[in-house]
Amino acid sequence: MSETPVRVRFAPSPTGKLHVGGARTAIYNWAFARANHGTFILRIDDTDPTRSTEENTQIILRAMRWLGLDWDEGPEAGGPYGPYKQTERAELYRAAAQRLWDEGKAYPCFCTPEQLAADREAAQARKDPFQGYNRRCRGLSREEAQARIDAGESYVLRIKVPEDRGDVVVHDAVHGEVTFNARELDDFVIFRSDGTPTYNFATVVDDAAMKITHVIRGDDHLSNTPRQVIVYEALGAPVPTFAHISMILGADGKKLSKRHGATNVEEYRDAGYLSDAFVNYLALLGWSLDGETTIVPRDVLAREFSLDHVSKNPATFDPKKLDWIQAEYVRAMSDDEFCEKILLPSLAAAGVDAGDHGSAWWRALAQIVRPRTKMPADAAQVAAPVFATAATLAYDEKSVAKGLAKEGMGAVVDAAREALGALGEDEWRPERIDAALEELPERLDLKKRLVFQAVRVAVCGNMVSPPLGETMALVGREDCLARLARGRELAL
Ligand code: GLU
Repeated sequence: MSETPVRVRFAPSPTGKLHVGGARTAIYNWAFARANHGTFILRIDDTDPTRSTEENTQIILRAMRWLGLDWDEGPEAGGPYGPYKQTERAELYRAAAQRLWDEGKAYPCFCTPEQLAADREAAQARKDPFQGYNRRCRGLSREEAQARIDAGESYVLRIKVPEDRGDVVVHDAVHGEVTFNARELDDFVIFRSDGTPTYNFATVVDDAAMKITHVIRGDDHLSNTPRQVIVYEALGAPVPTFAHISMILGADGKKLSKRHGATNVEEYRDAGYLSDAFVNYLALLGWSLDGETTIVPRDVLAREFSLDHVSKNPATFDPKKLDWIQAEYVRAMSDDEFCEKILLPSLAAAGVDAGDHGSAWWRALAQIVRPRTKMPADAAQVAAPVFATAATLAYDEKSVAKGLAKEGMGAVVDAAREALGALGEDEWRPERIDAALEELPERLDLKKRLVFQAVRVAVCGNMVSPPLGETMALVGREDCLARLARGRELAL
């Protein structure tokens, strides 16, 4: 391992919400920093003033917090290399560009867009394999250039790619050695005529100033990397290690987009996914612990993440696998955790008054609701009969027709009322309730399934509720008997 402390950054552009792909990039940077006892930096790349908004920045910060990706330096956290928003770093870019010009590593170019277009057309016409900038202004003397600037001529600043530079070889931790022909790079623009830096320049000025050791980002930026290497070299700054991670595809093999469903982190949060489950799932899109483990809790990720387990092949977003992982996290929760993180928010979202119950009551409810819950919305639905009363219980029509409004079921409900009514308040426990009901099929000479179905519909309003004894114990004796009385009117 190198002696230099690891410093990585996630640098979203606030031109939209935090996308699933961006979230995965953030997770990898965060996990890499944690696994190497390094520093995780959040930097807001808001240099595109037409598309960046403060609102999007806030949405991204909120999404990062929800994902649990705490940053050591960045907005709100501060840090020694701030500010951490590119719009607040304009002076640094200007100074860096000035220095390159002073050192003869950059030069002003006065070519107009029309001239550049004509050059390109001419290159195309003579089938020149090189169609980049022809370096017309590279030879201007400093005095001449300054005179034209003083005269108010519009210009950009271009970097001088050294003539003898040769190929640029990028050592990528995911893709291996990637070779780019330096001649193809031409003398690219580092400062626009409106005085703003280009992405390739601002990013490198920042990454160098912030002492970034590893640049982990989407592989759509791999083609920018040779230009960035040229900037590092011009600045005299060490080139970091790059790790370009694969794209995320939808099931149809196309780049993940709105067409495939939810693509923003917020949408998953609002749909009730657990942050831990979501981070676990995204981490597996291109990285694996050992090639087979699916449940990788956050602390394991933060300890074990390494770039050599990152795949260069595109990953496919599979909502079913996400749901499976979510269900595993729900299953593994303690009763108290389930109540706090799933059940209570779910009831609140459904507008159900949770009422006043002790912790034993809540734990008993968690035990019957949890196995039937994947998403939080399921919890409120499964628990709905428990929170209803004899007066408010909703009867599902189909369930009534199938289980209750049938010849002989009136007698079943009557028998159940009698057997259960014989139990005292202090005997109103799941085992006693079940035992009282168990006797009925034989006494009535009916199939057990029919008897339990009728009681279930009468008490819960449907045929798919959680176990009867437990549910009735939670509902309470008096209300159960009142429900049976109401159910009796529906039975034949
Ligand atoms: N702001 C750039 C983006 O969102 C950052 C790319 C990089 O990490 O260099 O794509």
